[in-house]
Amino acid sequence: MAFTGAGISVESGIPPFRGPGGIWSIYDPEKFEKGYFKRHPEEVWPLLKKIFYDSFGRAKPNAAHLALAELEQADKLAGIVTQNIDSLHQAAGSQVVHEYHGSTRRMQCMQCRTYFDADAISLDTLPPRCPSCGGLLKPDFVFFGEGVASDVHYAATDLAKQSDVCLVIGTGGQVVPAGRIPYIVKNRGGVIIEINLSDTGYTYTTSDYFLEGKAGAMVSKLVRCVLG
Ligand SMILES: [Zn+2]
Repeated sequence: MAFTGAGISVESGIPPFRGPGGIWSIYDPEKFEKGYFKRHPEEVWPLLKKIFYDSFGRAKPNAAHLALAELEQADKLAGIVTQNIDSLHQAAGSQVVHEYHGSTRRMQCMQCRTYFDADAISLDTLPPRCPSCGGLLKPDFVFFGEGVASDVHYAATDLAKQSDVCLVIGTGGQVVPAGRIPYIVKNRGGVIIEINLSDTGYTYTTSDYFLEGKAGAMVSKLVRCVLG
């Protein structure tokens, strides 16, 4: 399996959330707290549009996303658990992708709970309203103060329990509970191969191998080693 985070999408032009230049160094994370959003949708929606729809919409999968899709096609990868909400794994052709924190592709009405494909919702007038009941629409990714959907949590945990190797790519696992996924593999005797730009909380405690470098180059090389 692979467990991915923001670092795998940086080469696609998507800024990470944490660290210098990250989204949370520019925008106040409190505005992306669910309660604040519900009280001030007219303030938060223009930010959501700018960060998650205008820029993400133009992003394309990079060599790392494509290499993982190739690995799955060759039956060497059972699936991906990603913390990213950019859907670039699916754009690369990966089939089994558990989006631990949801995605920008769907929106949910806060009133009648119906889900909509984000492509079908116009963002010309903000905040966007539910086509059925006129309620407030929220992107279907996890806001601060919101829990992870239990179905995706169980699917991700099951995948980890069945995996003998976990590729940890572009994440230091600072966000829990997502960050615990590699430990499930490790605790059952599996091997952790970490690919990151610099060492993380996994490197000296959990990782069996640490490949230091950019995801695009490193994942491609690794996949070439496996598939020839
Ligand atoms: Zn509705």
